[in-house]
Amino acid sequence: MDALQVELAKLRRDANLKKSIDDVDSIIAQLEAARGTIAADSKSASLTLAKLQNPLKQGFDKVNDDLKKVYQGQAKYGKALDKHFPVKTLPTDYDALASHPSLINRAIAMHLLREGQFSVATTFLDEALHSPPHPSPTPGTPNPASNDSGDLASLQSQELQEKFSDMYRILEKLRERNLHPAIEWARQNSADLESRGSNLEFELSKLQYLWLFQGPSVNGLPDDHNNGLPGALQYARTNFPRHQQRFSKDCQQLITAILYRSNLHSSPYQRLFNTDDAWAEVAQSFTREFCSLLGLSPSSPLYIACTAGAIALPTLLKLASIVKEKRTEWTTQNELPVEIALPRSMIFHAIFVCPVSKEQTTEANPPMMMPCGHVVAKESLQRLSKGGRFKCPYCPSESLMREAREVVL
Ligand SMILES: [Zn+2]
Repeated sequence: MDALQVELAKLRRDANLKKSIDDVDSIIAQLEAARGTIAADSKSASLTLAKLQNPLKQGFDKVNDDLKKVYQGQAKYGKALDKHFPVKTLPTDYDALASHPSLINRAIAMHLLREGQFSVATTFLDEALHSPPHPSPTPGTPNPASNDSGDLASLQSQELQEKFSDMYRILEKLRERNLHPAIEWARQNSADLESRGSNLEFELSKLQYLWLFQGPSVNGLPDDHNNGLPGALQYARTNFPRHQQRFSKDCQQLITAILYRSNLHSSPYQRLFNTDDAWAEVAQSFTREFCSLLGLSPSSPLYIACTAGAIALPTLLKLASIVKEKRTEWTTQNELPVEIALPRSMIFHAIFVCPVSKEQTTEANPPMMMPCGHVVAKESLQRLSKGGRFKCPYCPSESLMREAREVVL
């Protein structure tokens, strides 16, 4: 991959059109100068044009020379791409997705909707519904569901589009440092947010208070009694009582912190008043809550699936070639024989690998904790105990099978 980066750097350096554009500009300048001369004195036309001939020819030659470098750079990079990314078939016998094209269409449409690409989503949905795909049943995967396409039609609802456009409108305002629409939304959905244990409404109010407190020199709002210290206090008086019950300590801190306003930077409350990251955080938390009230995950499942797939692909390709070379087969059915390391943000479920059998635990073979606190998979435990008292493989403690407790992750 490093070699490819080097090639890319070369392409950026050599194969850009800047030189050619400069050459063309200089030709245009020469032509314009000649036009000016002729316009000023029509008798000079033949002499000016004759004088122009050689420089123009040289100019065009230069353009072609410089373009040659661009073409060479592109061709070289194309070759490097082919070398590093040879076309290979995917390491799978069956296309597991072929049996559910409607579900894939649904995922694509949903992705477009939640990215705010409404017109593309509409066209995509129209076309997908107009000429529905033909699922081909694949061995070893669930059969196509009959209601796949009915599901797709539900995405055409105006309501969903309106909701997402609402979300983008509020996020846009947050980027402009305007909290009002977000606060209004949180108020309207206060009960739902509360029942989820969300603190978004308070976080928004808190940021509004701090934003006002920072005054016109920072927030750029009109310099009147609604801004600065009086504005912040007024805002707190009107809005903090509704948060008193859950966030009384935070409210007290926010109010008393202003006593330190003359030397905030060296006060213990300095961290509280640093709002640099707070805007991005409330925007993120707003998106998460908004999507969750719609019953959706905060980031697009299609994006996560594709990114995880792209990370896994090199390992899978390597595995496929090893399997082919050694003429072996995967023995475990629902498990990959290799570890695919994904970033933390892509891990949604805790997993446990039994330290004895090295197998990932499942519902049928759950992790079990012995009285000493060590955990192994149930099947390993059964093998160890053989029905009687046994020694933990990791410490000297002895226990009985019935003393072990299932660990729910
Ligand atoms: Zn133990």
